[in-house]
Amino acid sequence: MADLDERACWCGHSDLEAFSPDYRVCRACGTLVSRARHSPEIYGKDYWTERQTAHHGLPDIRQRARLDLPERCAHWLARLLPLKLPPARILEVGCAHGAYVALLGWAGYDAVGTEMSPWVAQFADETFGVKVLAGPIEKQDFEAGSFDVIVLNDVLEHLPAPVDTLAHCSRLLSKDGFFVIQTPEYKEHLTYEQLKASNDLFLKHMDRNNEEHLYLFSRRSAGAFFGRLGFPNLDFSNPVYAYDMSFVASRAKLPVSDDAAVSAALSSRPMGRLVQALLDKALESADRLWAIRRLQDTAGRGNP
Ligand SMILES: [Zn+2]
Repeated sequence: MADLDERACWCGHSDLEAFSPDYRVCRACGTLVSRARHSPEIYGKDYWTERQTAHHGLPDIRQRARLDLPERCAHWLARLLPLKLPPARILEVGCAHGAYVALLGWAGYDAVGTEMSPWVAQFADETFGVKVLAGPIEKQDFEAGSFDVIVLNDVLEHLPAPVDTLAHCSRLLSKDGFFVIQTPEYKEHLTYEQLKASNDLFLKHMDRNNEEHLYLFSRRSAGAFFGRLGFPNLDFSNPVYAYDMSFVASRAKLPVSDDAAVSAALSSRPMGRLVQALLDKALESADRLWAIRRLQDTAGRGNP
């Protein structure tokens, strides 16, 4: 239901245009802004055990704890390793079942997660033996500069006050620290009618989802957002799913380690060798998937 006192854009503009039944668009920065009220009470046990399946058609948290490891988590780690070799201190905000926190730990990082729900934090501890703290990031007792990397996968779009929350996170980062972000990508050149006509998968993030996804960023608005926070250098990479965008936001351009350095870092520890084998197999599958997507894009829509 629309809020009578409608939400302004994160950028400060309140003069927004209609975009769809559930969203307005900020033309100043290129963000879709939900018309729904913020409902923080959504993110309890039922969100993970019922709503994900009944409302979104996704596997529940117990299945996801197994399925995500060789897919999303492996993809994320393969992307991170050349940008920051272990050991390093990593915080994942909104880590759900904790599989990625666990994988980071097995790869040699010192990793910790946070989750809104105490039930999920306990689930992560019992499932993967990882440290997950319950509650908003602003309530956690972390010291300034205590992380080298802060990860927000599928989190940014849920935040009611993203500038305040990410500004808080930026103070937790070390001098050379950076953000790793996955969030749905609003492609500014497409209208809602065009999305409907092509049955675009991005609609999954809009229709029936506006209570959760309060801000849907474009590449342009993501650049403006992180630029305002003092992280103007955005480096985009292939996302796991085509309707998302995946990028690293840093204060300056990041140095990149080569394959030999990544391999040496992983193989220096027995558990790292298991992680290396998992990544090898996962990336074989991902390469095949992206090759298929490119073929489909070329055949179906005439895009290169
Ligand atoms: Zn805006």
